[in-house]
Amino acid sequence: MEDVGKELNRIIMSRGVDGRYRQMMEEILDHPDVRQFIEKHKDKLSQEDIEKSFAKLYEFVQEKKKYLASDPTMIAPGYEPQLSLNFHFVDVIYVPTDELLRMKRDVEIRSRINALNMPKDIRNASISTVDWTEGKNDAIDAIMKFIKEYTQRPKDFHKALYLVGTFGVGKTYLLGAAAHELALRGFETTLVHFPTFAGEMKQAISNDQVGPKLNSVKKAQILMIDDIGAESMSEWIRDEVLGVILQHRMQEQLPTFFSSNTNMDDLESYLSLTKNGNEDVLKAKRIMERVRYLSKEITVTGENRRNG
Ligand code: ADP
Ligand code: MG
Repeated sequence: MEDVGKELNRIIMSRGVDGRYRQMMEEILDHPDVRQFIEKHKDKLSQEDIEKSFAKLYEFVQEKKKYLASDPTMIAPGYEPQLSLNFHFVDVIYVPTDELLRMKRDVEIRSRINALNMPKDIRNASISTVDWTEGKNDAIDAIMKFIKEYTQRPKDFHKALYLVGTFGVGKTYLLGAAAHELALRGFETTLVHFPTFAGEMKQAISNDQVGPKLNSVKKAQILMIDDIGAESMSEWIRDEVLGVILQHRMQEQLPTFFSSNTNMDDLESYLSLTKNGNEDVLKAKRIMERVRYLSKEITVTGENRRNG
């Protein structure tokens, strides 16, 4: 290295390079990574090769400095600059750091969770952060069993869960955690806060968006219907929205989860409580047949975490 430096100095001097430029070159050739790199490849790199690679060496030294200082002006944030030999030419390659790879993986995992009108923290829910108190054991066991079986045979039909429990026990959080576990395994989940979705569907009538909005939910790979039965449902929502979604999911054998404050029996009476008497009892029964086909009721108990 000593020799290379001297030799380059000689070349530079002989070409009348000015002092500032020479100083820069000295600094670069003195950089420990550069020295080590030239030493390692000294058989393949002539003085001339190094001289021709000067712009790249300069880039490397500048970018490495910025990289170590986490300077946001670096060419490729999240990538570590490294020297590489490209035939007789030195090149700078940018290698993604572990941190960047982890971040990219996280973004990819999160992108598999399509949360419509759901609280923000739902994407951070994870089975490992759910408390395993007695009231949640059944639900967690059932979720893990579903995930295991679905992962093994995703094309087969698997009964999902209908989580029932009082306000604030963590039903929605459990659904989020299940969606996260599924995302880790590469599956996409759509979570819908049903009362809000129902309101949006009504608005969608006026701008002709009913079809597309309904389709994206209906056809979701895995669907989680949150808070079903939390608010009064019009006949139209019951039959043309919920009914249509469930019919499609049953036909196509697509996994569908629910969460509710009311159990299935109460949901059935609640769905029949519109003004058409007998006809509604039948329609409610038909909806519930689909709900029961798609999911298994599991009770979640515990303290109300919203007060915490
Ligand atoms: P529910 O849907 O049953 O009404 P939530 O799932 O919304 O209840 O939970 C109530 C609150 O408690 C939310 O703010 C949620 O983020 C939080 N929460 C629930 N379970 C957990 C948990 N295991 N760890 C941390 N926070 C939780
Ligand atoms: Mg909820």
